[in-house]
This record gives sequence, structure tokens and C-alpha cells, in this order.
Amino acid sequence: MIDFDSDYKQTINGRLVGADRTFAAFNPATCEVIDAVPDASQAQLNEAVAAAGAAFRSWRNSPVAERSRALNAIADLIEKHAESFMTLLTREQGKPRAGAQWEIMGSAIWCREIAKQSLPDEIVEDTADRRVITRFSPLGVVGGIVPWNFPVLLAIWKIAPALMTGNTIIIKPSPFTPLCTLKLGELCRDVLPPGVFNVVSGGDDLGKWMTAHPGISKIAFTGHTETGKSVMRSAAGNLKRITLELGGNDPAIVLPDVDPKKIAPELFWAAFQNNAQFCNATKRLYVHEDIYDELLRELVAFTKSVVVGDGARPETQLGPIQNQPQYEKVIDYFTDCIENEYRFAVGGQIDRGASGWFIPVTLVDNPPEDSRIVREEPFGPILPVLKWRDEADVIRRANDTRYGLGASVWGSDLEAVQRIGEQLEAGTVWLNEVHQYSPHQAFGGHKQSGIGCENSLHGLMEYTNWHTITLNRKFGFGRQSATKAA
Ligand code: NAD
Repeated sequence: MIDFDSDYKQTINGRLVGADRTFAAFNPATCEVIDAVPDASQAQLNEAVAAAGAAFRSWRNSPVAERSRALNAIADLIEKHAESFMTLLTREQGKPRAGAQWEIMGSAIWCREIAKQSLPDEIVEDTADRRVITRFSPLGVVGGIVPWNFPVLLAIWKIAPALMTGNTIIIKPSPFTPLCTLKLGELCRDVLPPGVFNVVSGGDDLGKWMTAHPGISKIAFTGHTETGKSVMRSAAGNLKRITLELGGNDPAIVLPDVDPKKIAPELFWAAFQNNAQFCNATKRLYVHEDIYDELLRELVAFTKSVVVGDGARPETQLGPIQNQPQYEKVIDYFTDCIENEYRFAVGGQIDRGASGWFIPVTLVDNPPEDSRIVREEPFGPILPVLKWRDEADVIRRANDTRYGLGASVWGSDLEAVQRIGEQLEAGTVWLNEVHQYSPHQAFGGHKQSGIGCENSLHGLMEYTNWHTITLNRKFGFGRQSATKAA
């Protein structure tokens, strides 16, 4: 029986290992230490790479059906231990029960759905003379580097396609949320051969060692845009393949023909789900001037009805900021707004004496387009609400960003909604909905929101090399037989 409450160990080559050094994992709702976590040494990373490299030799040749069974077995384990995973996820990440449930059950669904995907050989030519196929061969050892906002799901988004395509993987969770991932590694030892799936825990240095490691063939990274650039630079050492899922500054454009009261809750959750610690959170809300005042009033009223607190309490709808550096970063945006005398429609008061890293949900009333709160990604519960009048102008403003992760458009005039949506420069544009994801739907960023994609067959393909094999059936250069020659 696995104890989810203590004894957090890395999984390297199928063995549970600690480390000479440790760091602390905190509960963000109380700022209390949960437990000590192993801080991997470089030698341990080397060991994990060697083990994953050795395991690759047989895993790459395993039948697709066996890999599919393995992913379903991981899903079974997640479902069997769902209650423990959810409780631990709330404890280490801060998200309330509903969010934890979405993430954990979603992780199981992702495993089962990716298990159905495959990349059969492409037959380019098959004639009496020649046969040409392109095969999608695994890359080798994959390094998965994960952030702290959706620690389990975003790890699964890497583990499932890597294993399904015949690669082996080493996952590094964020040092702020390592616990669920360490337990996942421990559990999976029962269903995977040693070395196929390894979990190492540590800080940013461990991530750097991974991106520079010559034994790793690909890095699948989710995190900040600036970190993504470092990953890309470092991965150049041995031309590692990279998938980068980076930051966003998603705009939502609201047309004048919506009912402010009805749409306010949708827009609220578009922005504040997971306490706005969400790459795809709506981070700029553009509201048509005809309904701006009324919609802002409705948003303020809805905000006041939302319960913020310790995610472990059943009534809580929004938890704390996940970690102290992020808490300080978000406070910096409040300070900037105060210094520039932007108006808070609701929120704005931070109680630094609170027991956890709590920040009140805050709406900033029509700040300037060039303000930091509009231009940057706060990754916390502070949202600029902005006015628009002219369609072409709002499209220009929405696209005027280095990011291009997601966007949404909301309105009753479906033609207008589509016309606007199609002009938005983002990997995913949601029309009259938001945050709908699927294992079969490509997800990735334009511009500085990323490179490559996750999910769908396109995402699966990123874990493979094209391997084109040709056969000339009219082989005519052989030696003639001895009899004929004689
Ligand atoms: P982060 O970049 O600070 O850290 C992410 C991971 O990278 C952590 O595991 C960290 O230890 C590691 N790391 C840090 N420096 C590294 C380096 N130089 N080399 C290799 N690894 C390194 O990001 P975060 O604060 O954990 O996450 C928040 C960011 O992630 C936000 O910008 C958010 O938008 C983005 N994000 C993007 C997506 C997406 O799918 N596009 C999803 C979730 C989060």
C-alpha cells in the first residue's frame, strides 16, 4: 500500500531513491512544510538517463498493443488512487477539490485516449519495382519538464505520448509541486519495466542539466517563455528535439449583443479558473463599450460571491497562489497599478498577514493598453477589463502581443464571432466557449507562446523521427549464380 502522506522518493530504474540533499514542499494555503523532497544530484540524473537509455532498447520494439495496455494500466492506477491524488494535489498545489478532480480524472482520460492513438507506417509507393515507406520511429530518451499549475496533467501530456511512441522518459516536476508526480512514479513501477518511466526531483539546475544532457534526445517543456528560450539554447548542444509550451496573454473579446448577467460567470471562470494560474486564462478582457459598465457591474457582483480559501475546505472555489515567488510577482502588478492610479473595480487589498499566499480576485477598470497589467502575464487573479468600439481596432489590440497561446470571442451574432475569431493569432481560438481541451485536439502556441504542439496525432508525431525506408525490388547488381557463371 502506497502512503501518499509521506516518504516521497524518486523513481530511477524502477527503484525508489532518496538523495543526499532535500528541499521542502509547502502547503500554499497555510505556508506549512508538508515534507522533505529529494534534490537529485547530477549523478542521479546520469543514472536515470542510463536506465532510460537501456530500457529504450527493448521498449522501442514492444508491440503498440503492449504500450497501449501500459497506458491503460497507468489510467487504472490513477483512478484507483484518485482520492489520494486529489487530496495531495490540493495540499501541494492549493487548488480546490473540483479543480483537483478535473486534473486527476483528466489525467486518466488522457492516458486512455492517447492509448488509442498510433502512427502507422505511411506507404509512399508500393509497386512491382519499389516499396517506399515512412515509419515514425521513437527518438530515445525524452526529458519532460513540468510547471506547478497543473503538475499531474501536464506530466501525463508528456508521459503518455512519449511511451505510446516507444520512447522512454524522465520527468522532472516543478520543485513547487513534486509530490503527486513522485507518487505516480512509485505506483507505475508495478505496470512498467524498470527505466521506462523515471521521476527525478529538483530545482531549476536539474532542468538545466537535463536540457544539456547528451543522452537525452528530446525535451518536452512547459513553463515560462524566458525559460523556454534557455531550454532551446541549451538543447542545441546535441540538437535535441523540443516541444515548448510557454506563456500566454489570452484576449477575450465580448460583443455588444450578449446578456451581461448571463455571460459574467463564464467570463469570470475564463479568467480565474485555477486562480488565474493558467496558461490559457483570459488575461485581457475586451468588452464592447455599449455593455461595458453593465458587464463590469455583473463581474464585480459575481466576484463577490466567489469563496476564496484553503482548497481543502469543501466550500472553497478559489485557492491561494501556489508559491511565494509567484505571490511576490503578482503583488508587484498590484503595486504597479496603485502607483499608476489605475482603478480597481473590485479587490486590490492584499492581506500580507494571512496564513497562506492569498490574493483577492481583482478587476482593473480600463487601464491603458500599454500598462504592464495589459502587456504582461501576471499569472494571478488580477484582470484588466478594457473597452472597445471598433472591430478592426480590437482585433489589432488583441493581436498586439508577443504571445499567441489562446483567445476567445463571445457573442450572439455567430457570423461576427467567427469573422473576428479567424483573425486572432493564437494556437487555439474558442468561440462562445473556452478551455475545452481534448487528447485529439492539437494544442500549442503561436509566436513566443511556444514551438510545436501537444495532443492529437500532430503532438504524437513530435515524439518521433521520420524514418523513410526504400526497397528496390528489381535488384540487379547481385553476383550471378555459380552454375550460370560457369
Ligand atoms: P518556469 O519556467 O519557472 O518552470 C517550469 C519548469 O522548468 C520547472 O520544472 C522548473 O524547475 C524548470 N526550469 C526552470 N529553469 C529552467 C532552465 N533554465 N532549464 C530547464 N528547466 C528549467 O515556469 P512555472 O513558473 O513553473 O510555470 C508558469 C509558466 O508556465 C507560465 O508562463 C505559464 O503560462 C506557463 N504554462 C504554459 C502552458 C502551456 O501549455 N503553454 C501550460 C502551463 C503553464
